[in-house]
Amino acid sequence: MRIIIFGPPGAGKGTQAKLIKEEYDIPHLSTGEIFRKAIKNETKLGKKVKSILDAGELVPDETVVDLVEEELRKSRYDDGYILDGFPRTVVQAKAFDEFLEKNDEELDAFLMLKVPEEELVNRILSRGEGRSDDTEEGVKKRLGVYWEETQPVLDYYKGQKVVKEIYGVGSIDEIFKRIQKALAEEPY
Ligand code: AMP
Repeated sequence: MRIIIFGPPGAGKGTQAKLIKEEYDIPHLSTGEIFRKAIKNETKLGKKVKSILDAGELVPDETVVDLVEEELRKSRYDDGYILDGFPRTVVQAKAFDEFLEKNDEELDAFLMLKVPEEELVNRILSRGEGRSDDTEEGVKKRLGVYWEETQPVLDYYKGQKVVKEIYGVGSIDEIFKRIQKALAEEPY
């Protein structure tokens, strides 16, 4: 199963992606986690993206697309995966579509986690993960980038009949049950 989990910062993508990974036995690919690890390990990539993440801006499309494609070519992704944090722009979504087509593969589900905006800010500020971009200013910046550059990705996928909207308010378990139900349904 090939799944994209999508939604604004603080919607719970990472938390739910980890549960999906366990339940469906597919690897979880989080671009944000790759960048944070690279920054921590002070790799070439880490040095390149550090100031971008700190500012709450987006890493250039080409860098992200190359990174994701290189990763997905590894055999561990042969039987499916869950993408978390990618694609984040329409350019990335189009590049990913071309990648799938080249490999004769299809996306099974685009899970859209819906959470009211006022809840997002509170969640991020109280999650205490120690992320350097989890400041009030950082959150506002990332939400702004989301509405402007990332939200259009949803419309792009709406044309593909893979979008499943999940109400993202409630306990982690309740939300996960909604995801399981949505994944069991036939595409509409
Ligand atoms: P996340 O963990 O998904 O919230 O990502 C943290 C940060 O990593 C974002 O604020 C961006 O700076 C960067 N990032 C992660 N994924 C992408 C992507 N697909 N495109 C551009 N930047 C990204």
